[in-house]
Amino acid sequence: MTQSVARADVAVVGGGIIGLATAERLTAQRLSVVLVDDSGIAGGATGSSGGLIRAFDPDQDHASWAAQGLELYLRRGWRGTWPQVHEHGSLTLLRTADLTRRSAQTSALRAAGHDLALLSADEIRTRFPGLDVPDDLAGVYEPRGGWVPARQVAHALLCDAGPGLRVLRARATAVRTADSRVTGLATDAGSVQARAVLLAAGAGSSPLAASVGVPLPLRTRSVAYGLFDPGISAPNAALPTIVDVTTGAWVRRWDTHPTLLAGVRSSATDVPETVRTGISAPEEERIRGVLRRRLPCLADAPAVGGRTAYDAQALAGGGAVTAWPEPRGLVTATGWNGGGFKLAPAVGAHTAARLQEVLT
Ligand SMILES: Cc1cc2nc3c(=O)[nH]c(=O)nc-3n(C[C@H](O)[C@H](O)[C@H](O)COP(=O)(O)OP(=O)(O)OC[C@H]3O[C@@H](n4cnc5c(N)ncnc54)[C@H](O)[C@@H]3O)c2cc1C
Repeated sequence: MTQSVARADVAVVGGGIIGLATAERLTAQRLSVVLVDDSGIAGGATGSSGGLIRAFDPDQDHASWAAQGLELYLRRGWRGTWPQVHEHGSLTLLRTADLTRRSAQTSALRAAGHDLALLSADEIRTRFPGLDVPDDLAGVYEPRGGWVPARQVAHALLCDAGPGLRVLRARATAVRTADSRVTGLATDAGSVQARAVLLAAGAGSSPLAASVGVPLPLRTRSVAYGLFDPGISAPNAALPTIVDVTTGAWVRRWDTHPTLLAGVRSSATDVPETVRTGISAPEEERIRGVLRRRLPCLADAPAVGGRTAYDAQALAGGGAVTAWPEPRGLVTATGWNGGGFKLAPAVGAHTAARLQEVLT
């Protein structure tokens, strides 16, 4: 019999933004939590995240979570302790016809009090000099969108959770059950006893779910960004954060002017779960090649840094929170595919509510 190293109401595997946002909501309900992660807090995708946040998410599945997420980020979390949002504005670019199809979504956001303007290509070019947008594109502009420093948000959540949360730096190896109910986790440091288990371990959730016969097919997908220095004369001082749905590109201002952080959606899957500083020369070229169409100032801009990391992608459907009927007590929250950070405050609240249900 393995030695028991911890006991709590809920065991959470994964110290990323999803696990932390959930753990904080659980301790707010006076539940005790053990959070298990072998790479510590924000050691996975979260620590590399660009932190871009906005209410409008063209992915309809997550539309309400993105809007709730932005509200919470602007309130600086449930207790007002998170870092302030860099309200540089958020511009989502999409084809004019696609924007027309989403008019119900934009109307609903407005009705819910979100400040949002629909801009034609002409209006975008006038408002943001330096941004080149063809006539068949349009934009959803949110003046209160922008970005937050991801790692600092993760640590603020850890502080908010208080003494009800214990972090165990260990690798979870299996979910433990008895009579079709979750009883805890096996880890390489010993066993953790808990009446409910949350798997928020990115692609690492799949083998843990499989240990109790739950199919959770996930794969890793590369997510990387470069830091580009277009020179002090580049017209980017008032650039909003940009998500270009038509090219898969995303950009925000870096901490210091005039550097820009920029990435382009990748189709490279099954990459190792590792995080490294910098980007490869081909990736740098790929990002620059896509971005130069919208931001000509990046055409010759050298990359002065970057990050190469990964996120978990669900093989069927998108990110989801699931309370499994068997074993009772098992909840999973995975598959965010490069976009989980903006959703996390809402996902955390939703996941904590599911866990409370399975505890009864
Ligand atoms: C470069 C980059 C830029 C991004 N930019 C944005 C952005 O601008 N906006 C946005 O909304 N999203 C963005 N994302 C996506 C977002 O960051 C992720 O979707 C989100 O952070 C995923 O959080 P998570 O908690 O699910 O996973 P993670 O942060 O990956 O956390 C999972 C944790 O589980 C741990 N783990 C795995 N297996 C085990 C095990 N067996 N035992 C113990 N621990 C285990 C890992 O060590 C890891 O710490 C970006 C991602 C990257 C990589």
